[in-house]
Amino acid sequence: MSRAKLHQLGIELPLLPTTSVGSFPKPDYLMKARADYAQKKITRSELEQAERRATEFWIRKQEELGVDVLVDGEMYRGDMVAYFAEHMEGFQRGGLVRSYGNRYYHKPIISGEVRWKVPITVDWWKFAQGLTSRPVKGMLTGAYTVMDWSFIESYPDRRSACLALAKEIRKEVEALIEAGARIIQIDEPATSVRPEELPAAIEAMHVTTDGLPAYFITHICYGAFEQIYPGMLDFPVDNLDLEMSNSGLDLLALFRKHRYTKDISFGIVDVHTHEVEAEPVVEERLRQALETLPKEAVWVDPDCGLKTRTVEEAIAKMQSVVTAAKALRN
Ligand SMILES: [Zn+2]
Repeated sequence: MSRAKLHQLGIELPLLPTTSVGSFPKPDYLMKARADYAQKKITRSELEQAERRATEFWIRKQEELGVDVLVDGEMYRGDMVAYFAEHMEGFQRGGLVRSYGNRYYHKPIISGEVRWKVPITVDWWKFAQGLTSRPVKGMLTGAYTVMDWSFIESYPDRRSACLALAKEIRKEVEALIEAGARIIQIDEPATSVRPEELPAAIEAMHVTTDGLPAYFITHICYGAFEQIYPGMLDFPVDNLDLEMSNSGLDLLALFRKHRYTKDISFGIVDVHTHEVEAEPVVEERLRQALETLPKEAVWVDPDCGLKTRTVEEAIAKMQSVVTAAKALRN
């Protein structure tokens, strides 16, 4: 069914399309430029020049590797929630809190009425898509995750903050579609943490996407899947992008118990290890996926964003994804 939708949108993909979850590591010169900019040693436009150079590097790299659906690599983002909060009205920058590993980010405070003012990601999407003839995914963070990773002061409860955000984020989706994006990924990594809020996350996704002409993907990080599956199949998206390998493919057992009904971006390499898995290991994971899921429904990618790996590790892991997909297409 989703193949038909892609066809309608003018996108033809091979069997087992390859992609990535979104973020790639920032090359050293960009890390330095970000630090220099923070210390006011370089201008905003010098920083953007480094961001564009790094974006072009990753587009070329994905093309060379033979990836089918590309991403811009998020060279311009620090954190996936703070970035959107900084570009919308109604937020204040909060204090530093720890997220995963040893990373810190400024946890935003929702302190007023949230409002989308201007396109946030559209220029980056246009720049990236302008560099390649392969489809580039539009990438944004979903309302539920923006809400969950912020402090809420100006809404009576989490659900109302989430729905208000969903209505505004829809405007970003519309702007991406207007610019020409046909595959749009709305990340909701936080969904798997509080099963009791799954209905609110799904309701928000309806507000953000209903009736809009694009193939929608949502990435959910590993969590309490046994409690949100099969409920998460109610997300109004075409494709769920899931972290499968870090947990030893244990989700496949859930899919056998209750049939999985959407397309899936199936993570076949672990993003949490420096080690690049051997080809047979990666191919075996994909083979197991194909024993449980219809081959037409399977896309192939790493478990999660690769931004915490080195540039070399990220390239090697993407290479493993492409090699395994090509091997099993035959
Ligand atoms: Zn993830």
